[in-house]
Amino acid sequence: MVNSASVIKDIKNYADIENVPIINDKSLEHIKYLIKKYQIKNILEIGTAIGYSAIEMALVDSDINITTIERDEKRYLEAIKNIKKLNLEKRINLIYNDALNVQLGDKFDMIFIDAAKAQNIKFFEKFEKNLNDRGIIITDNIKFHGLVDSQDIKSKNLKSLVRKIRDYITYLKENSNYETEFIDIGDGLAISYKK
Ligand code: SAH
Ligand code: MG
Repeated sequence: MVNSASVIKDIKNYADIENVPIINDKSLEHIKYLIKKYQIKNILEIGTAIGYSAIEMALVDSDINITTIERDEKRYLEAIKNIKKLNLEKRINLIYNDALNVQLGDKFDMIFIDAAKAQNIKFFEKFEKNLNDRGIIITDNIKFHGLVDSQDIKSKNLKSLVRKIRDYITYLKENSNYETEFIDIGDGLAISYKK
């Protein structure tokens, strides 16, 4: 038996030291709650980083399967190591590529978008065809460290990024194929329910 709590603790420590932006504890708790509530079995994740959120979601139940995509080689290799340590390689399928170059035929009960924040609309539109009827698309960092509510951003790049996140929020609100709720926990979650 592997001691998953101690492996997860090491992963969180690594994220802290190496500045890997893993999901906030409260946001993760909420996602795990939704996985249980809707008996989610197949999950697609965009943005693996070092495997932390994928591992946590996989550990909710032994019949959950996850496909997760990461484009950064160092993080991808670290994710492989972490997934192996927990013997989850049969249930977590890691894809090393830019998500925008990946074509998937499978269908998922949940899609978790947690990659480049400026690309959220692109990820949503590319992968919604892989969502089952009544499926859920969750997007992390919808507040982007509070900056999405801020009027006073100096950096040009940051301004442009925040504008794109605001555009994404509008896009979700106006998307009549989904009912989206915005949850003010952690760095902000958007939960979009396919009608
Ligand atoms: N979900 C992880 C954190 C992901 S951080 C967790 O909570 O544990 C976001 C990751 O998305 C980064 O590692 C970044 O390299 C990756 N990423 C950003 N844009 C991407 C893209 N277009 N395709 C694949 N991965 C991407
Ligand atoms: Mg995130």
